[in-house]
Amino acid sequence: LSERFESALRRLSGESHLSEANVREAMEDVRTALLEADVHYDVVASFCERVQQEALGEAVLKAVKPGEQMIKIVNDELVRLLGGDEALEAGEEAVDPSQAPPPIMEVVPGPTVVMMSGLQGSGKTTTCGKLAAYYKKRGKKVLLAAADLQRPAAVTQLRVLADQVQNDVEGAGSVACYAEPEKVAEYGKAVGAAVTVCKNALARAKRDEVDILILDTAGRLHVNAELMGELRQVAGAVTPHQILLVIDAMTGQDAVNSAKAFDEQLEIDGVVLTKYDSDTRGGAALSVRQVTGRPIKFVGVGEKLDALEAFHPTRVAGRILGMGDVVSLVEKAQEQVSEEEALALQEKMAKGQMTMDDFLGQLRAIRRMGSFKSLLGMLPGVGQAIKDLPIEEKQIDRTEAIIQSMNREERKGRAALDNSRRRRISRGSGTQAEDVSQLVKGFEMVSQMGKAMSGMGMLSKAKSMAG
Ligand code: GDP
Ligand code: MG
Repeated sequence: LSERFESALRRLSGESHLSEANVREAMEDVRTALLEADVHYDVVASFCERVQQEALGEAVLKAVKPGEQMIKIVNDELVRLLGGDEALEAGEEAVDPSQAPPPIMEVVPGPTVVMMSGLQGSGKTTTCGKLAAYYKKRGKKVLLAAADLQRPAAVTQLRVLADQVQNDVEGAGSVACYAEPEKVAEYGKAVGAAVTVCKNALARAKRDEVDILILDTAGRLHVNAELMGELRQVAGAVTPHQILLVIDAMTGQDAVNSAKAFDEQLEIDGVVLTKYDSDTRGGAALSVRQVTGRPIKFVGVGEKLDALEAFHPTRVAGRILGMGDVVSLVEKAQEQVSEEEALALQEKMAKGQMTMDDFLGQLRAIRRMGSFKSLLGMLPGVGQAIKDLPIEEKQIDRTEAIIQSMNREERKGRAALDNSRRRRISRGSGTQAEDVSQLVKGFEMVSQMGKAMSGMGMLSKAKSMAG
């Protein structure tokens, strides 16, 4: 999806004029890209309609950089589609990835009851484990309730998972599992076996002063009356604070349709979109909000216990449009560095041949560009890595002094900067040995990043987008 979007928008961003014709043409590509990604037809239609209307407005057609405007419109509509109205209203354009993510879900004592629902195999049990791990790390007391009584194996799976979290995940909290395995035999014969388990689990949670009780319920291969009846009974008996619907992103539109059915019967509070890591087309995320009216709260990004993320519409929109806000990053960078320079540097970086001189040149360009952190922070995954780079004014001056105190060999990276060299350099530049070490660290980080980015094809993509 991301690739198709990029190519459609890249063409526009090169245009100095937007005309009705080229906007329509680009929107055709966007439409095809969305449909191919298995986004719901109605969602695609209304999305394209909104973007087109806005893009053809006077202000955009006459704007200085219409291409940029167009990208912003598509971005904002994507964010909206993903449920990020609040974010847009708050004027939030891109989440700074170096900031700590907001909490996955607030927990009120007493306990907070979270009920999982969803089809068989969607990832309910796995998500229970991930949530338990998340809260154990944060010092909470967690109780998992085994209310999937369809098979004995389901109860065992949850118990094993609870043990695993309790033993392997560090944290001040604790995780236990409430189960009544004998109820499995009653399941399907007696009405309400799952309800009994959940009620008993809630009583236990209250007695033990648990912070969060998570109910792992049964699924079915398809939505049916039996399943919905059972889930409604459970919800009625324990009135959960949150009913989460777990859906498998890989099943695309089917997932979204079943989400609609669940919501009609159960009034869910939000969606957990699992297997987001394996969803190559990415369509489910885009349809869920509009079709169900419910927000995606978390995404599952792997089978491991820590593979759960809070869902950020702004980030995901950025990812769909390309890698972070590469477009504006490239545009800003271009104003500062000529194309040949950029190309030469890019090649050097890709080969791991960046020198201290190049590094200094970059820092200077970055200083001219404005905030380096916010700029690089637009690239996903980079935010964390750049926290310690020397980029404040004074630090750049110091860096300059340090690099100037290096001899040729050192600047070209042909001499390892051992302690005695570091001492000499710091004396020569009137800085502390520590400053030199920090600079070396920053330099290494940027060279690594250059290699990694070229490995991901990011630099060449960024370049072709700019060019
Ligand atoms: P349930 O029937 O809804 O309880 O589903 P399970 O929790 O048992 O999960 C079904 C399968 O999906 C298991 O093999 C999980 O490892 C896998 N799974 C769950 N969540 C994710 C995810 O976010 N990413 C990936 N790749 N696999 C997942
Ligand atoms: Mg399960």
